[in-house]
Amino acid sequence: MDWIEKELELLADASLERSLRTCSPVCEAPGYTLRGERRLLNLSSNDYLGLAKHPAIIEVMREKLLTEGAGSGASRLVTGNRPPYDRLEEELAYWQKCEAALVFANGYMANSGVIAALVGRGDVVFSDQWNHASIADGIILSRAEHARYRHNDMAHLRVLLNKYRDKRRKLIVTDAVFSMDGDQAPLRELVALKREFGAMLMVDEAHSGGIYGKRGEGLCHELAVQDDVDIHLGTFSKSFGVYGAYICGSRTLIRWLVNKAGPLIYSTALPPSIVAGVSEALVVVQGEPWRREKLFALCILFRSLLGSSGFTIGVGNSPIVPLIIGDNDMTLRFSSALEDEGIAAVAIRPPTVPDGTSRIRFSLSAAHTENELRDAAVRIRNIGLRLGVI
Ligand SMILES: *Cc1c(COP(=O)(O)O)cnc(C)c1O
Repeated sequence: MDWIEKELELLADASLERSLRTCSPVCEAPGYTLRGERRLLNLSSNDYLGLAKHPAIIEVMREKLLTEGAGSGASRLVTGNRPPYDRLEEELAYWQKCEAALVFANGYMANSGVIAALVGRGDVVFSDQWNHASIADGIILSRAEHARYRHNDMAHLRVLLNKYRDKRRKLIVTDAVFSMDGDQAPLRELVALKREFGAMLMVDEAHSGGIYGKRGEGLCHELAVQDDVDIHLGTFSKSFGVYGAYICGSRTLIRWLVNKAGPLIYSTALPPSIVAGVSEALVVVQGEPWRREKLFALCILFRSLLGSSGFTIGVGNSPIVPLIIGDNDMTLRFSSALEDEGIAAVAIRPPTVPDGTSRIRFSLSAAHTENELRDAAVRIRNIGLRLGVI
């Protein structure tokens, strides 16, 4: 086992070692987190709509915990398929205007399980190079060929689609909003290519569900391409503030996944209290549009404050605002300077992002206020000046 220590040393020398740090919630202030005794403005959470501490969601979960118990006790195909699942899946299909829905334990398992259920040896998956790691792992698990196209580069995707024309099944998969950059996929162009080449199209709305669309359905609805997307994936762990994931699509698709998606078949069902909490979160996501409006206003403000300070930030209008630094060590120093200034925002380094593009990934929430972000932007600017980043 000596090799592990040696490898870890190499990681540490390259400023690439990661470690776990404990962060406690601050009950009365959802936009903050506690590290030890220190209260930090949390600019690294995916709780975009500020729902993780929503009282109605917590109350439903508490009630269900008392009636349904702590765990579901079995896989959904055995005896773990409790009533809250049926209810949630019906509500999801209605919300997404799809025939059917299927709940998974989390986004990672949904991506890996669904891709492996749809393609196999002799097939090909066209995947954006910036797609989430769970998509890449799903492709490996499926044993299909992995055709990675350059980020959002439709000309490159077309070249690859031509190259693999003769493969049995073709699946194009993309994040709707990219998790480390906050930019959007060109969904309309992807739909056109999918049609032209007879491919299936899968869209991962992990960072766009709850945020885009009139009722928070996601970017596919916002751009009115939902009917041309064959496989919709979304999560309940980000905007929904709870945990879990869903697939929406045709009845045939869902029937197939119930038979073929390993993470659904061979893993214990989510606790019913969580599934019921997600149902309540879905009510809030649809019924409290002011959260989306507030979030977008904060995004515009924060992006313009950082941009006008001279930082290199990602494009787009999403709550993910990457501040690109480049050097790994400098990114770590920036992150710890932020913590000294009362701001939690982690350094994102390779292999999560390409070499030379290490960054601070800020993520905003409707739980924040304009004043908090103005104040944070001043501190961020001062750190940038002090460290020579701007
Ligand atoms: C977070 C994320 C996932 C994983 O979802 P979990 O529910 O956290 O496992 C999948 N895809 C994308 C694009 C994500 O950002």
